[in-house]
Amino acid sequence: MNLQEEVNKRRTFAIISHPDAGKTTITEQLLMFGGAIREAGTVKGKKTGNFAKSDWMDIEKQRGISVTSSVMQFDYAGKKVNILDTPGHEDFSEDTYRTLMAVDAAVMVIDSAKGIEAQTKKLFKVVKDREIPIFTFINKLDRDGREPLDLLEELEETLGIQSTPMNWPIGMGKAFEGLYDMHNHRIEMFKGDERFIELDEDGQVPEDNHLRQNPFYQQALDDIELIQEAGNPFDEEEVLAGELTPVFFGSALTNFGVQTFLDTFLEYAPIPHAHKTTEGEEISPYEPDFSGFVFKIQANMNPAHRDRIAFVRISSGEFQRGMDVKLARTNKKVKLSNVTQFMAESRENIESAVAGDIIGVYDTGTYQVGDTLLTGKQNFEYEPLPTFTPELFMRVSAKNVMKQKSFHKGIEQLVQEGAIQLYKNYQTNEYMLGAVGHLQFEVFQHRMINEYNAEVNMTPMGNKTVRWIKPEQLDEKMSSSRNILARDRFDNPLFLFENQFAERWFADKYPDVELSATPPTE
Ligand code: GDP
Repeated sequence: MNLQEEVNKRRTFAIISHPDAGKTTITEQLLMFGGAIREAGTVKGKKTGNFAKSDWMDIEKQRGISVTSSVMQFDYAGKKVNILDTPGHEDFSEDTYRTLMAVDAAVMVIDSAKGIEAQTKKLFKVVKDREIPIFTFINKLDRDGREPLDLLEELEETLGIQSTPMNWPIGMGKAFEGLYDMHNHRIEMFKGDERFIELDEDGQVPEDNHLRQNPFYQQALDDIELIQEAGNPFDEEEVLAGELTPVFFGSALTNFGVQTFLDTFLEYAPIPHAHKTTEGEEISPYEPDFSGFVFKIQANMNPAHRDRIAFVRISSGEFQRGMDVKLARTNKKVKLSNVTQFMAESRENIESAVAGDIIGVYDTGTYQVGDTLLTGKQNFEYEPLPTFTPELFMRVSAKNVMKQKSFHKGIEQLVQEGAIQLYKNYQTNEYMLGAVGHLQFEVFQHRMINEYNAEVNMTPMGNKTVRWIKPEQLDEKMSSSRNILARDRFDNPLFLFENQFAERWFADKYPDVELSATPPTE
């Protein structure tokens, strides 16, 4: 195998969107182009009640989230495409954010009637901070939505990213005729038998084409002229730097514009990039020695065993089944024998994978989120994954006072593993858990019972904003029910503010106190 050649075939990305924008529909289309599934409706078991696998965790089963859909690989046009799922709704968790640490590009799906929505904004920010390319797909053009120019303006204003349209809708809803494809110099027809119409030198359809008489065609031409004069030209370097997002329009439900999008996306999406170590060294994906990092741990795939799967992004070299690796944190050897790669409809034991791929490593409690795995003489750790500040909080205590020991052990391990964030009330030492999504609490409760035999009491505290305070500025009298004083697991003091008003009130009352949205770094 030629490692470089194999690595260069990889395109690893995530699709980010607000629930209902059409991520699942698009993912299914992509998998169908890749021949990975034959029928729509296979990705979200929820829709078809089609639970093929028996080894999903209970919560997953109830919600219809599948392990297999968290990473999907397929071949298309000579490339090996890896799509990583970023779940939405209640399934939203820190893992959703962390998944974005394992991709080389992101696709942002937007509902043309709704524009930029809350969850898109949050996920976008994480992607933007990584400075990786972001491609935009504006979906549901078969329905009436907002004016395309208006959507581009919102994109630039709300998200602060420049955009460059690759194609442009001709009409929408009932009057949707198709796409004026600037990039491929053709019209992609939504209606009728003809799929594509080549444009002439003036960028027009032939004289005798019915579109010439269509007011939406004229409108599209006017819009495009405006964009070409006042907008951003396509610039590959800016796209790769994450400064400019190419925008595509389409309708996933009717499988329109998705393949055009995929073709262009794969043309420009980056190959696996180098990853930085804690020493600032860049490790090339072509480095023959295997290395990778754990970005997510999914628990309890099989309730009969307490197993979990650690998701590893391979960042250099090649993985081979049964190989010994070193866990950089402990310097201990582990054998990678039970390793899964994910296909759309099944989990398969794999023999090999290369930089850019994601593997699932069977785990009995060895790994933590952020762990580095190495082979050969290598000795380094990859940069730690960023932490994501929780917004939802629960008070937590052991149901059975006799089980305090297992309660503490369970919490300690789950917190270390990165499943949930722990805070302690500064005065009372009461435990509080923080999460970015509700599912994290459910998983926590489930695992405490199943893995540590500790039932827990949980009392919702609602949304809170976390703000760290410098120890030297701290005065316990500053604490109140609106701003709870607590410590994080590294003993850094912080406030949990009830809402923005509470935070503003505090800032007015103690103007000299500096509040920080991120924990202090050593
Ligand atoms: P997700 O929550 O982002 O994964 O969204 P889904 O793919 O499940 O889609 C949400 C809803 O929008 C479903 O009812 C889809 O059938 C519908 N939908 C998705 N794409 C389109 C589209 O292009 N046009 C229309 N009209 N509906 C769509």
